[in-house]
Amino acid sequence: MLIATAVALVISNNGMMAQSAPAAAASPTTTASAEPVYAIPNQKIAWKEAYPSGASKPVPKPEWLALVKDDALLQVTPNVLTVDGVIQNADPTGKNTHCNWTWDGCVKPTDIVHCTDKTVWGTSFDDGPYEITRELLAYLKTINVKVTFFVVGKQVITYPEILKEAYDQGHEIGIHTWTHAELTTISNDMIIGELKWTELAIKEVLGVTPRLMRPPRGDIDDRVRYIVNQLGYTPAMWSVDSQDWRITAGGQTEAGLLGNVTQWVNSLPTLTQGGNSLMHDLNKITVGAAIKALPILHPHVKLSPVGVCAGWNNGSYKETAGTTAAPAVSSAVAPAANVAQTTPNSTAAVAPASKKVAQSGAAAFKNPIVYTTVAVALTALVSNIF
Ligand SMILES: [Zn+2]
Repeated sequence: MLIATAVALVISNNGMMAQSAPAAAASPTTTASAEPVYAIPNQKIAWKEAYPSGASKPVPKPEWLALVKDDALLQVTPNVLTVDGVIQNADPTGKNTHCNWTWDGCVKPTDIVHCTDKTVWGTSFDDGPYEITRELLAYLKTINVKVTFFVVGKQVITYPEILKEAYDQGHEIGIHTWTHAELTTISNDMIIGELKWTELAIKEVLGVTPRLMRPPRGDIDDRVRYIVNQLGYTPAMWSVDSQDWRITAGGQTEAGLLGNVTQWVNSLPTLTQGGNSLMHDLNKITVGAAIKALPILHPHVKLSPVGVCAGWNNGSYKETAGTTAAPAVSSAVAPAANVAQTTPNSTAAVAPASKKVAQSGAAAFKNPIVYTTVAVALTALVSNIF
């Protein structure tokens, strides 16, 4: 048993870190490298469920499959994830036919991107819980700020007590899949498994069912959106990215991150809606950067959980939704500098016109081969974490 456990640790550790924080594993300064990132249910809780553990995939329960009604979108071919973690467009036309965020930042009105009030700033941390999450929780308590934690199911069953602490302190909890999977690259059934197993673990620890989900790496398209919607979740994206994970992975420094946050503050007078930033409670580096970054924002905007800032009030969980006004998701969405204009029809092709890609060459979209190259380059650029 011990041997099997050790093997599972190595396999799963590689898989997890390869997908969520490639440099964190190589850095001796990160706490993540010293912590178990594999899934062995924490025995402090008498779990009712037998969760996927080790390197096993979160195969869905049969009854979960019945929750998703048949639709043409389910026939969309999954994208391809290379061994290097690059997401490749499986669409034979090479176009962004199904509003994949990964290609050009495409979002839909049903995605939360901004906060409704420009004086409020959505604040979220992805990929935990880890031990280091406690350090962030302690800091947030000192400034009396509540945020959203988009948690990974494997981490939930490893650190259920930390998830409970976050929830009990008033923070909002959302789903970030079981294995940090790139959702557009996996089958319909596995998308359901990734989401529902995470939901179940959260429900078992907290007694509530999240309505917010965040796709790892932002990798969402209309096929994923359809399944997410059928399961009763709302995608929660972001308007600005701290790139905090790049401090260890390369391409970002703490000073650079703090400079970006200062720019966010400087942009506040021009905003018509509230910003919504992405950070990670992944390791000591990202949490340390957050503890320096949030004081830059805090005096200028009201830091808030994502669902709350989108007008959800008590709607963050299925058990409490409906006790207040309906979620104001659509009004929370507006094109940002790095977010594509979108069409309201979920099955319609979306003109890939975001600034991100335009900077790489708008004409590229007329050429599927070039477009694919641009998309792959962008994907490589953003590496494999969000
Ligand atoms: Zn993530």
